[in-house]
Amino acid sequence: MSIATATERVFNFSPGPAVLPLAVLEQAQRELVCLPGYGMSILEMSHRAPGFLDILASAKRLLRELLAIPENYHIVFLQGGSRLQFSMIPMNLLRGQSGSAEYLVTGSWSKMAVDEAKREGKVNITWDGKATNFDRLPKAGELKLAADAAYAYFCSNETIQGVQFATEPHVGEVPLVCDASSDFLHRPLPIEKYGLLYACAQKNAGPAGVTVVIVRDDLLARSQDSLPGYLNYTNHVKEDSLYNTPPTFAIYLMKLVLEWLKDEVGGLTRMHAINQQKARQLYDAIDESGGFYRGHAQPEFRSLMNVTFRLPSEALEKEFVKEGEDRRLDGLKGHRSVGGIRASIYNAMPSAGVEALAAFMREFKQKKG
Ligand SMILES: *Cc1c(COP(=O)(O)O)cnc(C)c1O
Repeated sequence: MSIATATERVFNFSPGPAVLPLAVLEQAQRELVCLPGYGMSILEMSHRAPGFLDILASAKRLLRELLAIPENYHIVFLQGGSRLQFSMIPMNLLRGQSGSAEYLVTGSWSKMAVDEAKREGKVNITWDGKATNFDRLPKAGELKLAADAAYAYFCSNETIQGVQFATEPHVGEVPLVCDASSDFLHRPLPIEKYGLLYACAQKNAGPAGVTVVIVRDDLLARSQDSLPGYLNYTNHVKEDSLYNTPPTFAIYLMKLVLEWLKDEVGGLTRMHAINQQKARQLYDAIDESGGFYRGHAQPEFRSLMNVTFRLPSEALEKEFVKEGEDRRLDGLKGHRSVGGIRASIYNAMPSAGVEALAAFMREFKQKKG
């Protein structure tokens, strides 16, 4: 049997798990059998061994550096994906509070988060984008929050609809909670504006299996002893993500991605510029198509990460996906709940992949438009 090589790789537009930097995969491949200096694989190593503790410390240090995370914020690496955070957030931050939780419903993921929060306590829907099928986001001035709200929750990038907040919503003194699963590390963030921010790794930061939670110190006082141990943030902070065995391989791989962002890309300001440039190419192809391609999001809310659009018919959309695959442009089918096409162009998607897709879009329109 022959071994597949890097030259056989497709351009992977999957929403997640998603494309990873080739340099990261190659380093993991080189180090898989024996982590340099430690005499064994990361897969075989105790989570309390110096080798893994070094990796854990490096991952935290790199996150702190890349995002300029202030000292009064903790970073923990958890399991259960972002879906578990839908529950852990209200369990820790809403239980025992007098005010309700405010939720901005801007697409499928924030809607699912609301459904979980309702199981735990009082929830107020601050804003709901359903009336226009989640093609836009609230503007400044549209949000009216109760002053005693326990927290205000939003999803910075709705992966399925392809709408993204370019800046944080204004919530005054209410602690801001953010699901950044599909745009984590795509730009610098003013972390001091957030109470809690979390992201599963498998979209933009690593493989499936680990979720990063960044939480402001004072909010931990809300977590009650009656919570199940794993579901209480304070246990993970106290034990520095070693409350139970953490997903060691996923954290290792995320550390490699963070090193790539710092050393190869040159930091998040540079990453943001590249992401803007990549997204512009696809939105230009949409806007120049004379209505053949119709973007889902209203232009000012377009996502830099997930570009969603329709073609004149479902038959043409099927053809587009099929022809794309023939050209090694993989994973372009939209989410089953909204249909159409979705091109996920996370940090690790090379510019060459976006250029190939934009060229394909123009050719396909030429032929079928
Ligand atoms: C993928 C995704 C989730 C769900 O993540 P899991 O790790 O599968 O639980 C939640 N929110 C957003 C914005 C996502 O893109």
